[in-house]
Amino acid sequence: MVIREPWAKSLKIELFASVSMRHRDPLRQSGPQPKVASGEQGRAMVGHSAEALISTDHETRLRSCFGLEAFRPWQREAVEALLDDNQPVLVVAPTGGGKSLTYQYPASQLEGTTIVISPLIALMEDQVRGLQDRGIAATYLASTLDRSELNEREAALRRGEYRLVYVAPERLANDFAVSMLQSLNPPLVAIDEAHCISQWGHDFRPDYLRIGEVLARLKPRHVLACTATATPRVRDEIVERLGMQNGRVILRGFARPNLHLRAELLETPKQRRAAMSAALRENLGDPRNPAGGAIVYAATRKNTERFAEHVAGLGYRSAAYHAGLPAEKRNEVGLAFARGELDVVVATNAFGMGIDRADIRLVVHVEAPGSIEAYYQEVGRAGRDGAPARGLLLSASADLGLRRRLIERPWEGGARSSERIQQQWSMFLDLMRYAEAGSCRHDFILRYFGDEAEILGGCGHCDICLALEDGETTGESSPEDALVVRKALAGVARARGRVGMKAIADMLAGKDNAKVRRQGFDRLSTFGILGEHKVDWVVQLLRRLVTAGYAAIDAREYPLLYITKKGAAVMKDEEPARIVLPAKRAAPKARSSKESAPAVSDPLLFEALRQVRKELADAAHVPAYVVCSNRTLGEIADRKPNDLESLGEVHGMGPARVEQYGERLLEAVRSGA
Ligand code: ADP
Ligand code: ZN
Repeated sequence: MVIREPWAKSLKIELFASVSMRHRDPLRQSGPQPKVASGEQGRAMVGHSAEALISTDHETRLRSCFGLEAFRPWQREAVEALLDDNQPVLVVAPTGGGKSLTYQYPASQLEGTTIVISPLIALMEDQVRGLQDRGIAATYLASTLDRSELNEREAALRRGEYRLVYVAPERLANDFAVSMLQSLNPPLVAIDEAHCISQWGHDFRPDYLRIGEVLARLKPRHVLACTATATPRVRDEIVERLGMQNGRVILRGFARPNLHLRAELLETPKQRRAAMSAALRENLGDPRNPAGGAIVYAATRKNTERFAEHVAGLGYRSAAYHAGLPAEKRNEVGLAFARGELDVVVATNAFGMGIDRADIRLVVHVEAPGSIEAYYQEVGRAGRDGAPARGLLLSASADLGLRRRLIERPWEGGARSSERIQQQWSMFLDLMRYAEAGSCRHDFILRYFGDEAEILGGCGHCDICLALEDGETTGESSPEDALVVRKALAGVARARGRVGMKAIADMLAGKDNAKVRRQGFDRLSTFGILGEHKVDWVVQLLRRLVTAGYAAIDAREYPLLYITKKGAAVMKDEEPARIVLPAKRAAPKARSSKESAPAVSDPLLFEALRQVRKELADAAHVPAYVVCSNRTLGEIADRKPNDLESLGEVHGMGPARVEQYGERLLEAVRSGA
């Protein structure tokens, strides 16, 4: 229970009686932090009443310590759960979301030295410097330091001179190092990049497995773990391994409104190069004056070199980056890219941790990465300045074989266990499902990370949402397509979760085989209702129902398909269907990476209008599709309206757009016509 008194606007008074007998930490008083903790900080206990503990408001102290105006709502939730409710906390939020503050702020307020475990040694120095700039004494311990420097830092730590110490996980293997940390009696242990603890994560690190044991030795009063990528399965594993069962999971902000996602299924290397080049051109513009940076991810070292050559041929300042290059070379490339001296880096997944460049306009994967987690982390490096940015995922059936080889390849630790191979393979298949999904890409990812609270019901600007928007009804499948979806859902419903995808597809396509007959499917009203389609196509459609959340798979013994609540609502036409049907051909034809230009009678005018749209979008700091869609531009180019009224009749214009952009568009029509 929290009582707020009018006389103490920024004071929070909490009654001990309401929080049972749990131990609480007296919080430190506000005010700038001394460079070196004195060990006799004033306490925020005020003798208002014997039962009351008064702590000044977190926000006030955030302002004075960190110079930040306010917590983001989920940061506040994390800090309050940790400090006020004394719960272990797991924070899952995208890179750049502000996770560090959720342990740095508590560290600045708690008495004693907080330990932060982080695998990103390269970033520790920056973090430490950032804290020191704010007057918060911090240091780090990693094998990159020489022995005497380590000794000095450890001595200062023992004297209580630091509020935070960053520790590389490999130090936890050393018993002396752990004893030293234990002697610090840390009030808080924070585990950054916590997904590294999970076998189900995309970045498993054996050193992380020690953390549970170390926590048991250090016995900190508070534990906080954070990561940018954790599926429900990975979260469960983190919680279990860190013993955070009574804790709170805070999950926020996977929807990135400025990130335009697109995926294309291609076949040949030539198509990949063409799609990559088109995307670079479209998003960076003229190589002589590029609009920002781009990262091209390839799956192998050799391929980074190949694609880098191609990018250089386009005229962009570019370089390859992979773990096989000497450390100095990698450093050089990373720095040059950060400084804007390189426009494009073509890299393996070794590139990325700690890239500090806000104006990355494009992240292209020319080959499929290993998992959705990896993909989302990599694509999340685009558009950190909040301006429009694009993520393009190119994949081909050849990627399946390539990934399988990469997964099975022995690594330094020796052969991989078959369990691990299975895990990685199933994570990769999830990614391929993303690549071929027929529903909103953002929603797909939100659902994958279990972030139901933020499901958008269609983001309105990924390639799928745009394809739906170009249909007759905005953001929904066309009536004919919706009927197909409802028929398929009816088939799933009638099968009552007794069989898998293939059997249902057989039933819908009207295949008269033994299994269908044994189940009595040939007598159902749904038998053969999609008879004009091939079974393979129906299987693809069923997969799309799953990725859209309309159907789900229950894999207790066999993968059985059943309809979800949402699917039932769509089937009954209570909710619109938002799915793009699979292409009729088995192997979808390659499209150019450009948003498909409609067939127009006046392509020159269309191009001129596109230019105008870009200017309008730039001026308003919004993505181009917010101004209007290609289809709308095409219709304007066709109809050549000469006043605002006839412009308003164009599909997708509407009064607001006419008012905001009408004059400028008409001007372009007049001068172009
Ligand atoms: P993450 O660890 O999630 O990748 P960081 O902690 O590095 O992200 O934060 C990214 C940026 O956001 C930093 O520049 C940080 O100063 C800023 N930031 C974090 N929280 C806030 C806030 N509440 N208000 C304003 N800026 C914030
Ligand atoms: Zn979308």
